[in-house]
Parts: sequence; C-alpha cells; structure tokens
Amino acid sequence: MAVKHSLIVPCYNEEGNVEKFLEVTKKAMLGYTDNYEIVFVNDGSRDETPLKLRKLFEENKDVKIKVVNFSRNFGKEAAMYAGFTQASGDYVTIIDADLQQDPSYAVQMGRLLDENPDCDMVAAFQQQRKEGKFISSCKTMFYKAINKMTEVDFISDASDFRTMRRSVVETILALPEYHRFSKGIFSWVGYNTTAIPYEVRQRESGETKWNFIKLLKYALDGIIAYTDMPLKLPVYTGGAMGIISVLVFISVLLADIFVADYSAAVGYASALVLFVGAVICVFLGIMGYYVGKIHTQVKERPIYIAKEILSYEND
Ligand code: UDP
Ligand code: MG
Repeated sequence: MAVKHSLIVPCYNEEGNVEKFLEVTKKAMLGYTDNYEIVFVNDGSRDETPLKLRKLFEENKDVKIKVVNFSRNFGKEAAMYAGFTQASGDYVTIIDADLQQDPSYAVQMGRLLDENPDCDMVAAFQQQRKEGKFISSCKTMFYKAINKMTEVDFISDASDFRTMRRSVVETILALPEYHRFSKGIFSWVGYNTTAIPYEVRQRESGETKWNFIKLLKYALDGIIAYTDMPLKLPVYTGGAMGIISVLVFISVLLADIFVADYSAAVGYASALVLFVGAVICVFLGIMGYYVGKIHTQVKERPIYIAKEILSYEND
C-alpha cells in the first residue's frame, strides 16, 4: 500500500532533538493516519545524531522510518533533495528536527490537501518572527529586493516548512540544478499553493546553524540563482559614467579657460580613477560569482553523497 504522508527531516547536529521529534510526531499523527513515514536525513552531523537515529530506527518498528546518512555536511538544501528522492508518500512535508515547527501543523496541512483537491501545496509562514530586529529587517529587505528583481513570487516569511502532493515532488526532482535554492524552486514550479500561518517555537535543544554571514551568502545565492539582473548593472552604470565623463570633460575645458589652478582638478581626477577602478572590480566580482556557479554546475557532481541508507522497506 502506498504511503500516505512522508515527513522529510533534515538533521545537522540534532542529537538533543531527534528522539523528542519522533515522540511528538507519533502523538500528532494519532487520529490522522498510521500510514506515514519519516525520512531522517543526517547531513553529516558531528555529534551523536547518527547513533541516535540508528537507535530510533532499530527500536521503533511501529513507525516507517528511513535514515539517510550523508558522507559529510552538504547543507539543508541537499538534505531536502535527498529526502525527496527517498520519500514515497502521496503527500510530502519538509520539517525541521528542532521542533520549532510543530508536527501537528503537518497534519493540518495534510488535512487541507485531503479537503481541497485543487490545492497542490500548503506552505506554512511565520506569523511572528522570533529573532533579532536587525536580522528581521534584513530578511524583509531581501524579500522586497528579490521580488522586484525576479519574475518568481517569493512569499515573505514562508519557510521550507510545507506539504506538497507527489506531482509537485516529481517536478522538483526533475530540476537538475546543483545550486538549489528551495524558496525559489517552490515558487518557480508554480502549482496552487495555499499559505497557513504557524507559530515558531523555541528550539528544543542545540543552536541555530545560521549566522548573519551565512544568511547573507544564502541571500546572494538566491538572487544569483533566480535573476541575471546583476549582470546587466555594468551596462547601466557604464552608460551613466560615460555621461558623467562628458560633463567632467566640459567642465575641465571651462576650467582651462577660466581657472589657472589645476591642483584641485588633479585631486578630483585621481579620486575618479580610483572610483572607476572600484566599480570595475565589483562588476568583475559579480561576473566571477556567476562563472563560479556555472563552473560547479558543469562538473555535474552529485548534490549529495549518501554513505548509508537505513530503511523499513529492507527489514
Ligand atoms: N540543517 C541541515 N544541514 C545544515 C544546517 C541545518 O540539515 O547544514 C537542518 C537542521 O538540523 C534543522 C533545519 O535544517 O533541522 C533548520 O536548521 P536551523 O534550526 O539551524 O535553522 P533555523 O531554524 O534557525 O532557521
Ligand atoms: Mg531551527
């Protein structure tokens, strides 16, 4: 019998959470379905997570459990992709291991899909962000910027916490890109998406893997994956600088006629040379960023390497 609902759980150093996660999920699923599976993806954890997951797998034969062990840390995007390849359910939910996202919402999302045949995907969005003001306003700016720059609609504050039908999963699996930015992929594939609010809980144990630099890199990756707008910037900037240079030339001509002192002009000129150099470097850097992404994509390396897969199917 086909599995009704799969939960994909990316885990990176979640030794303090996985047991509680299973316990809470079992409770949440009561009265909804017992035909569900949990796909834990251990993303190269350096703590006791792999041992804990093996134990959960061996000791909980009443639940369909799969454990994918990566050969190293490949990142949450790769973990989600691996989860998609392993999940066999008609519905598939991505959910964090740290219990910030209550598994009972997965049930709510599943029921919504049951009741609405036209709905293909349910995305949970945070009603209230529980983070610092600075990070929060950076995220707001990011959503504004990326929505302006790209044709894809990014739902503000929608996390990866969502449930989709098998058709959506198959579509996502068919996208071969190496640099995966799920927030974009989920929007890009289209389908009918319903958003429901959810309340973010405190992390059960351990700490977040995100800091400001990582978030900034993630945001840049997202922009680069979804728009080539930055590549067009040199054209606009070059045009503007060309016009400015003509104006400067004219003013220098006038200065030649009316002013005898050149020292100030020399000062401005050297500042201008430096400025132009800086702009060129920035644009070269932007191009380098894109070329780097092409470079890794053409190597066609796998998105993840699983060194071991434990599955209830093999018992
Ligand atoms: N995660 C992962 N690989 C990573 C980083 C994080 O699989 O390289 C998992 C992590 O174990 C958690 C989820 O992704 O289940 C979200 O991570 P985290 O809680 O650190 O992010 P936050 O909730 O703070 O945004
Ligand atoms: Mg978290």
